[in-house]
Amino acid sequence: MKQIETKALHAGSPRPRIGGAVVTPVFQSSTFEYHGEDYHDVGYMRLSNTPNHEVLARRIAALEEAESALVAASGMAAISGVLVSLLSAGDHVLVQDCLYGGTSGLLNNDLRRLGITYDVLDPQAPGTWPAQVRENTRAVYVETLTNPLIQLADLESVVAFAREHGLVSVIDNTFASPVAFRPAAHGFDLVVESCTKYLNGHNDLIAGCVAGSAERVRKVKLALDHLGGCLDSHACFLLERGLKTLALRVRHQSASAARIAAELSAHPAIAVVHHPSLPSYPQHRRAARLLDTWGGMMSFELKGGLEAAEAFLARVRLPAVAASLGGAESLIVRPAAAVHSGLSPEERGRSGVTDGLIRFSVGLEGTEDLLADVLGALRDTSRGADLAAPEAGSE
Ligand code: PLP
Repeated sequence: MKQIETKALHAGSPRPRIGGAVVTPVFQSSTFEYHGEDYHDVGYMRLSNTPNHEVLARRIAALEEAESALVAASGMAAISGVLVSLLSAGDHVLVQDCLYGGTSGLLNNDLRRLGITYDVLDPQAPGTWPAQVRENTRAVYVETLTNPLIQLADLESVVAFAREHGLVSVIDNTFASPVAFRPAAHGFDLVVESCTKYLNGHNDLIAGCVAGSAERVRKVKLALDHLGGCLDSHACFLLERGLKTLALRVRHQSASAARIAAELSAHPAIAVVHHPSLPSYPQHRRAARLLDTWGGMMSFELKGGLEAAEAFLARVRLPAVAASLGGAESLIVRPAAAVHSGLSPEERGRSGVTDGLIRFSVGLEGTEDLLADVLGALRDTSRGADLAAPEAGSE
């Protein structure tokens, strides 16, 4: 098997090259000449079967070490396609606590209305899971690293549990990316990712993907063909371009995040830091065993709580205060004010999302520049220094 850097450039490329082009050209055509194919095989962009979609599907399958893959219009399109293809009215699914907000929204609103129910698992307590399985339980759904506390579930037990109880195991691998973890190789049935994040990596498009066995991915594709969540060809082109540097980007981001996490965890103004590289991280040994790299996502809490967090966010200069993650530009956000704002303070408290928690998607800036920016903002926050107006290009 080739190295991930090589696969990110070449896996699934057509041979001979299309018109000799080294890069897959953009097929900006909604429809293609009919040659007597069946409905799901006619060339039509919504059916995700242009050359741009097909190259990407093969490349992502190779990166995920899965038999097959597909690309979708967004991470949520991929997740909706997976859950709609797996579940029917009356079915039940077991999910990890503290899921991505869009996924909980789908479960709590649309799927509940369609007669699909769920229960929440404690991802660190496999002994408690069997008692939660019902006659109508069909699937178990987890995330590799949770948002925003970056916790790592007992993933090996999830696979064993799903097999033992005949459940389909589904994992959202967005925070890890296939550079850190390839769930299909560990036995997960279906892998979803928001390609908006690390796979594309440039904060400039929305996309998603699903990987797994050819049979399972085919069923998801049929659902997506009906739901209409296809990716536009130009976005396919950009995603293919973004993928080329995936491994290089994620390794740099992981190394920077580990360096910043180590500095912050020794800083007097910081109460706690969550990053898999830290010996204090509760699942550090599991992370060292399962992950190829620590990942670029971290979160931390200032001792001064909400007020200090707001003051700090007003003083960082390099990271943009914005939702999303995994891109070239560092992004920083207070989850209680953004993704988790829909939860009550009590619910947030139970899931560990305190008002002062800050989530940091470490980007591709120079590590020392980012560290200096963060430490400078902490110093100014402690001193209560006045906010300086940012100058254009002052970064
Ligand atoms: N899964 C996770 C873990 C996410 O963080 C996100 C978005 O933030 C999604 C899925 C949804 O992805 P998209 O915004 O591409 O639909």
